Amino acid sequence: MRSWTRQDSAELYGIEHWGARLFSVSAGGTLEMLPLGPGQGAIDLRELVDDLRGQGIQLPLLVRASDVARRRMELLDRTFQIAFKEHGYRGRYRGVYPIKVNHQRGLLENLVAFGGRNHFGLEAGSRAELLLALAVLDDPEALLICNGYKDRAFVETALRGAQLGRNPVLVIEKATELETILEVADRLGQEPTLGVRVRLTNPGRGRWGASSGDRAKFGLSAQAIVDVVERLRAAGRLHCLRLLHFHIGSQVTSIRTVRRAVREASRYYTELVRLGAPMGTLDIGGGLAIDYDGSRTDFESSRNYSVREYASDVVAEVAAACETAGVAHPDLVTESGRATVAHCSVLLFEVIGAETVPSEGAPEPESEGESQELAALRAAWELVDARSFQEAWHDANDARASAEQAFQVGLLDLEALARVQRAYWQVCRRVAREARTQRYVPDDLDRLDDILTDTYYGNFSLFQSLPDSWAVDQLFPVLPIQRLNERPNRHAVIADVTCDSDGKISRFVSLRDIKRRLELHELRPGESYVLAVPLVGAYQEILGGLHNLFGPTNAVHVSIDEAGQPRVDRVIHEGKVRDSVARVQHSADELAERLRVATQRAVDGGVLDPEAAEAAFGWLVSGFEASTYLDGARR
Ligand SMILES: *Cc1c(COP(=O)(O)O)cnc(C)c1O
Repeated sequence: MRSWTRQDSAELYGIEHWGARLFSVSAGGTLEMLPLGPGQGAIDLRELVDDLRGQGIQLPLLVRASDVARRRMELLDRTFQIAFKEHGYRGRYRGVYPIKVNHQRGLLENLVAFGGRNHFGLEAGSRAELLLALAVLDDPEALLICNGYKDRAFVETALRGAQLGRNPVLVIEKATELETILEVADRLGQEPTLGVRVRLTNPGRGRWGASSGDRAKFGLSAQAIVDVVERLRAAGRLHCLRLLHFHIGSQVTSIRTVRRAVREASRYYTELVRLGAPMGTLDIGGGLAIDYDGSRTDFESSRNYSVREYASDVVAEVAAACETAGVAHPDLVTESGRATVAHCSVLLFEVIGAETVPSEGAPEPESEGESQELAALRAAWELVDARSFQEAWHDANDARASAEQAFQVGLLDLEALARVQRAYWQVCRRVAREARTQRYVPDDLDRLDDILTDTYYGNFSLFQSLPDSWAVDQLFPVLPIQRLNERPNRHAVIADVTCDSDGKISRFVSLRDIKRRLELHELRPGESYVLAVPLVGAYQEILGGLHNLFGPTNAVHVSIDEAGQPRVDRVIHEGKVRDSVARVQHSADELAERLRVATQRAVDGGVLDPEAAEAAFGWLVSGFEASTYLDGARR
């Protein structure tokens, strides 16, 4: 067998397909993150984990490189500039980052600081987000797009922000919001900048397709838009209407959907200009997808287009509609969230153990009292060859079922059942090996792969750290951060540490289809084996929940310094038991007090001597200050 190289691993795990040139494998076989791109310094994730461990910072851990988001912003800006040139477009590009996608301070502040040059703006969808955005977005030229439901307080927050010189645009999502806005604007004597969100009829396809069409949650119908224009005209405020917005949903996988939506929205735009609104800006929302599996298809975890194609098609459609209508090219706003931050964060967790299927070998005969079933399995094992592997598989299944029945009615003891199980797996292995040499394998044997799959247990919570994997079957790449120059010899699914049987990853990215099992290395005793889940920067942190009270993971912010060396900018300690219980209204101090009372009672009742009582109590209450995850390295 040819020896395994890091290139083999890069290919196996698809790094170049989903990695956007931000990940690579080092000569030593470790996974590296390249926040500034190739040749600009690397963060070796294995070294990072070892260094942090030395400082007492344990996994699971989220590694955030906010420079990645800056690069993505830059990319969007550059790509739109190219598309403008290509189509002789005269509007400006004004990127906006929707903060709901990842609100983390380090990330947000870095984005705002960087966005300053191009007047990148923010998008807020609630009063809380609006306040956050008003405070951090210190640039009167940057747009602050206000989406979401708006009550009086929301509107007043935006308009008072405008009084301070900020630049909020109130996007009318529901017809009733207009009256609220007019009323608050009059009361404060503050002119609002307004937009309308149109409900497109071209349905978005894919998982979030319900964001458009007649029953969509947000947006105004043609009739409602006409009503808004009339009402504004009557109020002498039509000059406030400056922007048209639409959003067809997140992770739009097909470029055709984008094109059709932009074409339709452009018609609304030119019609609004015809009706006398000044307009000036067309906001095409989010939806720019991430190719999580690298397949470049319209599969839901992928996308069948590049950023280049996206920008070029958007600009072409808007330009064409404007030329036909004789309307000036509007400034273009995108609200790309996922595409900006997904690549920023990598989840790292340790494998704490594995349930593995016994490896190959012939079933041992019993010297005396061999069960009928074990004998049958030994015969099945002998039978396996190119012609009879399917028959052997049937015989093995019969023998196992029969043994399980015999056990239930008391005819077989526990040890005998265990021997049968082991022999069964050995037959399965041999059948699988034979089947692999065949050109055609009947469906009948499909279950074989599942039977021979290991389960690797990871010290993380799927519900906390990868909620979309559970909620909407989102695929993320998963790969080891070490031993990438070694051939992986096991096939596994990954289970988390929650007590929930849904807490597992059993679908993995690949260019073709979805893999049901991931190639991993055999664990070595005493050696830490860490897995990475890249591309978790969008939505995962804020949607995560406290299932089993497993809390947020520790996080580190990393970057590359001027000398090209990796640097840890900030360490965020999270997820003490104290914090998790507080989220469900329990006070760690009160709980500790109850434990103290129980300890006292044990001493008074003579169950424990005072010294043992103190040790027990001390140990128990120290748990409130501990991480919610399993501690330390695998032993
Ligand atoms: C969620 C959302 C976005 C971000 O969408 P992405 O697919 O992450 O780019 C943009 N605009 C609006 C109105 C949203 O609700």
